[in-house]
Amino acid sequence: MDLRSGYPFWLVKNGLVYTYPALESDQDCDVVVIGGGITGALAAYTLVQEDVDVIVVDKRDIGWGSTSASTAMLQYEIDKELHELKDLIGPQEAVRAYQLGVQSLNDIQAIVAQLGVDCGFQLTESVYAARYKSHLSDLQSEYTARKDAGFDVRYVKEAELSECYGVKALAAIVSAAGAQVDPLRLTHALHQKNMQLGARVYDRTEVCKVQPHNDGVTLQTDRSHQIKARRVVFATGYESQSYLKQKVVDLNSTYALISEPVAQADLLGGQYLLWETARPYFYARTSSDGRFIMGGGDLPFQNPDKRDHLIGKKSQQLLALFAKFYPERQTPEVAYAWAGAFGETKDGLAYIGQTDEMPNAYFALGYGGNGITYSMIAARMIADLYVGRRNDDAYLFRFDR
Ligand SMILES: Cc1cc2nc3c(=O)[nH]c(=O)nc-3n(C[C@H](O)[C@H](O)[C@H](O)COP(=O)(O)OP(=O)(O)OC[C@H]3O[C@@H](n4cnc5c(N)ncnc54)[C@H](O)[C@@H]3O)c2cc1C
Repeated sequence: MDLRSGYPFWLVKNGLVYTYPALESDQDCDVVVIGGGITGALAAYTLVQEDVDVIVVDKRDIGWGSTSASTAMLQYEIDKELHELKDLIGPQEAVRAYQLGVQSLNDIQAIVAQLGVDCGFQLTESVYAARYKSHLSDLQSEYTARKDAGFDVRYVKEAELSECYGVKALAAIVSAAGAQVDPLRLTHALHQKNMQLGARVYDRTEVCKVQPHNDGVTLQTDRSHQIKARRVVFATGYESQSYLKQKVVDLNSTYALISEPVAQADLLGGQYLLWETARPYFYARTSSDGRFIMGGGDLPFQNPDKRDHLIGKKSQQLLALFAKFYPERQTPEVAYAWAGAFGETKDGLAYIGQTDEMPNAYFALGYGGNGITYSMIAARMIADLYVGRRNDDAYLFRFDR
């Protein structure tokens, strides 16, 4: 599957950050991770911290899947609002899912500090804005749900939004918890650290067959080698559905662009993440080199050609939405634009853990608007599962829900 196209900025900016060999011999290990994107890198990280012997294998260059296309806004808020999620899965469960999002951001921050590498990580506020009067009552319910659950949020009205954030909208929930990152650099930094701790990382090596057996799994690669392991982790992103009979995701096409650098005075009145109550939603952040990154325009996925044909038109739509939120700013010039695959689940929650469909396998499917937040949650959970540690939150992301 063609996961993304156009010119994702992180690939243009960073190029091949590091290179990795292809797998050219038979190997064995404790855990083999299929997929070397941000999810696989984080899963390998939490496993090597437990002294687990890990191999990561990816059919593309490392990070060249969805990770390189991500706009990498790190948010605890998921596409399903908390007050809706409470009705869907229960109040305590919904609040816990949101709390895990905050914990995930804290975990990523701590890991970035441990890595000691500049990967564009920055803490930010997150501004969830309503442009339509008809959205205000839901926004108020959402604010109350989050406030009552103890999240650090403020309800900000039109005048303050304009003055302090430069945003034109009727009201917004401003969350203290949020962050942004360069996802490609973070992914490589994780792999480099993991390799120092003994992990083996191979790219341009496709896993063609996964054979579970009593005490583990055997993987066959396109270069006719075998990897034997006690467990396999599927960190295969939006291509994971092909390994499962259970349909867990609806695939969309999504669009993003990055502007040419703008003068400091033109930035978003500070660094924050902007997204909105409309669906599909528009969102924006800034980059560390003074550009706007924006995205949205989701459509049901048909095929890569149709998706890619729309990149120019969708860029214009994103700029028009930008102008609605920032009517007094000059519309920035597009530097690079791209499209990618994007998965949604019915309840907005990821699917993480084991399924009856495949023994000795863990899945880390961070679907939804904040996939990277889920990558971190999945990484912690999979390390717990592997070492046999109790994880009281695993049920939230189980396959048989
Ligand atoms: C335009 C866009 C904007 C986004 N914005 C955000 C955002 O702001 N915030 C956010 O949190 N998330 C965002 N996302 C989602 C986020 O990018 C994904 O959740 C995340 O990148 C998924 O990472 P991953 O490692 O699971 O998948 P990937 O990066 O796709 O990695 C999976 C890897 O598995 C490999 N693979 C698959 N099958 C095999 C096989 N058989 N053998 C070997 N290797 C295999 C692939 O080659 C691939 O590299 C966005 C996505 C897009 C497209």
